[in-house]
Amino acid sequence: MTKYATVDPTTGTVVREFATMSDADADQALVRAADAYRLWREVDLADRAAVLAKVAELHRQHATELAKLMTLEMGKPIAQAEAEVELSASIYDYYATAGPALLADEELDIAGTGRALVRTAPIGPLLGVMPWNFPYYQVARFVAPNLLLGNTILIKHAGSCPQQALRIAEIIDAAGAPAAIYQNVFATTDQVATMIADPHLQGVSLTGSERAGSAVGAHAGRHLKKCVLELGGSDPLIVLPGADVDTAVTAAVAGRFWNAGQACTSSKRMIIEASVWDQFVPAFVEQAAQWRAGDPMSEDTRLGPMASVAARADLAALVDDAIAKGAAVHLGGEVPDGPGAYYPATVLSGVTPAMRAFHEELFGPVAVLHKVESVDAAIELANDSPYGLGSAVFTRDANEADYVANRLDVGMVGVNTTIRSAPDLPFGGVKNSGIGRELGRFGLDEFANKKLVRIV
Ligand code: NAP
Repeated sequence: MTKYATVDPTTGTVVREFATMSDADADQALVRAADAYRLWREVDLADRAAVLAKVAELHRQHATELAKLMTLEMGKPIAQAEAEVELSASIYDYYATAGPALLADEELDIAGTGRALVRTAPIGPLLGVMPWNFPYYQVARFVAPNLLLGNTILIKHAGSCPQQALRIAEIIDAAGAPAAIYQNVFATTDQVATMIADPHLQGVSLTGSERAGSAVGAHAGRHLKKCVLELGGSDPLIVLPGADVDTAVTAAVAGRFWNAGQACTSSKRMIIEASVWDQFVPAFVEQAAQWRAGDPMSEDTRLGPMASVAARADLAALVDDAIAKGAAVHLGGEVPDGPGAYYPATVLSGVTPAMRAFHEELFGPVAVLHKVESVDAAIELANDSPYGLGSAVFTRDANEADYVANRLDVGMVGVNTTIRSAPDLPFGGVKNSGIGRELGRFGLDEFANKKLVRIV
């Protein structure tokens, strides 16, 4: 059964526990969301946008306290936690300011008499199931477009982030949101399934693992509910001959070790063309070694603990399997003694298809370096993954960049950059990385009724 508890990842101490909701309360939350929807969809668009603008302002006003709560509950280094709160605020701001124009009617150029419009309308109450790795940002990218649209929201946060869940609900309330347009549900997995089946609910979005995505997607399919899934990734970062290797190394190290490597779009597989291998590898290992684990509450710490000892054990099992089967260890690779969920910055090469680390998502601070002989071999290896989320290619040749971008089976490609989420850029993947897009105008369309209005 799902548990809601704050457990300090630096010590493993249980700080605070919360009860899961009753089945009756879960049913009642859906009724309230449906009642709130009938009123919220009638509120002027400008007033809905004003609520979001206020939510952004309150995130900024309480940034230090919100960031500290994140660091306490999942171990993100405080400077990175502060950056996430700011990114979240910028998402609420984006939909408050740019959103209304994106909801304008679209006039179609049609044959025949009269006019045809496509109106972007809400569909009703939605459920968001959230992970723990970006507790404010993940909520912002689902909540902001959908509240603007006029949908109402229930959020099932990750079990490890209950205090952040409560603060987000308080902030949305303090921003002047009408009752029940946003509700926190401390739901069990069974209650999530029951909610998806309930006729009041019109859609569900899940960000998390493939296992959870597949379970929620199956319930959504059975009950004919719209579903968006943002799942795992094993992003390739390709470095080609002639690339600016220093820039590539810096981007690859930050892309891999930021948030202790617990990001869906971390650069997890570095695919290096043979002629730049000898320049890339020592520089990468040297920079990675500078990411020393430390107290996440310190502004100087770049690498905090992982979110839990259980998550660390999963990661260590993948590394141990690779080492046992012959992978080379350039840095790290051993669970340290002492309390907490710390794992060192680790760099492996010689990872082959016989090893789990070749195929599975390394959701922690472990980089895998692959050497390839050509651009086509780089593309083939990059696509040899069940995932297709983000990617990066470093090259000074624009035609080569285009050639690679066209052939990678992914949702996002960065040329001479890694993928960094921004309010106005679509975010999402293909293959086992999920279904649908969030953010930008695409995030507004996922749970919209694109309603035809034909006027003769
Ligand atoms: P997770 O274990 O799948 O949990 C995600 C959420 O799903 C949690 O709220 C969890 O609840 C819930 N859940 C788990 N099993 C469920 C089920 N059978 N039915 C309904 N809900 C269920 O994932 P995580 O460890 O929090 O997050 C890490 C994963 O998320 C990684 O694979 C990462 O790549 C992916 N991710 C993807 C994106 C993206 O945009 N593509 C962004 C961030 C993270 P409990 O906490 O209560 O178990």
